[in-house]
Amino acid sequence: MADALKGGKTVKRRLTATPALIKIYIDLFVNRRAYTLQSMRPHPESGRHYYYRPKERDSGAPLLLMEQTVADHLEGRITIGLYAINPLNQRCKWVAIDADYATAMDDLIKLQYQLTKDRVESALEMSKRGGHLWIFLATPLIARKCRTYIYDLAQRLGVPVKASGLAEGIEVFPKHDEIQKGAFGNAIRGPLGIHRGAKRRFWFYGADYSLEAQIEFLTRLRKLTEEELDRFTEGKELPPSIARERSEVEPVSKNAFGENRRGFRILDHVSKTRVVGRNYVAQCPSCALAGRDSGRDNLAILVSDPRFYRCWAGCTKQMIRAAVGKPIPVRHSG
Ligand SMILES: [Zn+2]
Repeated sequence: MADALKGGKTVKRRLTATPALIKIYIDLFVNRRAYTLQSMRPHPESGRHYYYRPKERDSGAPLLLMEQTVADHLEGRITIGLYAINPLNQRCKWVAIDADYATAMDDLIKLQYQLTKDRVESALEMSKRGGHLWIFLATPLIARKCRTYIYDLAQRLGVPVKASGLAEGIEVFPKHDEIQKGAFGNAIRGPLGIHRGAKRRFWFYGADYSLEAQIEFLTRLRKLTEEELDRFTEGKELPPSIARERSEVEPVSKNAFGENRRGFRILDHVSKTRVVGRNYVAQCPSCALAGRDSGRDNLAILVSDPRFYRCWAGCTKQMIRAAVGKPIPVRHSG
């Protein structure tokens, strides 16, 4: 169910993601099966809903994006983030320009207009602050060239770029030229889902506010071809300030609050702990959230090194961290 204000009254609308819509969504947006999930609960201090990489409950293996994941996202049960670059070929299916400062919309519209001069069509999506401008590619294209094209455009228009050291400016996804094996780069909120912080869905301008109309609008956009991108970027390089951060070597080691991951202490988040053998035993926060573990003994924390803890009912570390409002964050925008 989604609420929409129309003519002053709230209209309840049930959104159904049909298999056909899901297929088109995946064709347009999904370039690799790794994804992020937005926390359903806000961080107790910052109030923000962070994104984390979901893991399988038992094995701890990363969850892969499936048709059902997209259905859950479009129908509002979860909110996913999508990665731009496929590390197998360093190519992307889309380019998204993220802007969230005071004059963000002016700059995005400037860019959108300039793109039309190259016959490049784009879709402007509203966001919590500002918006996201999406360009779709006829075939997956080299991330570095996509970035070169957009940064060159921004420079010619005098549109500020965040990566160049300015506090405010556009951010371009893909945010890297290349992604190493085992790395991910930055994810951006998947369009047409519910933003957990804003508690609402953000739509694209230019089509009715229904999944069918929005997806149909996106499929009708002209897609940028490899030949065009080669032509637009011929003889051009990334500005040096941008090129500096072009490849991500390692996965993130610090969390979104700038603290080392080891800085998290599970003992700060559980109560009524007792010692059983080598472990502290307590109620698992993730189980508690689901109304389980009334016996308060599912969570075992190693006394000698409390960095190691485990829920005997199978909750993952990610689930436990999310349950205490300290999800393991990943680089994200959105
Ligand atoms: Zn548990």
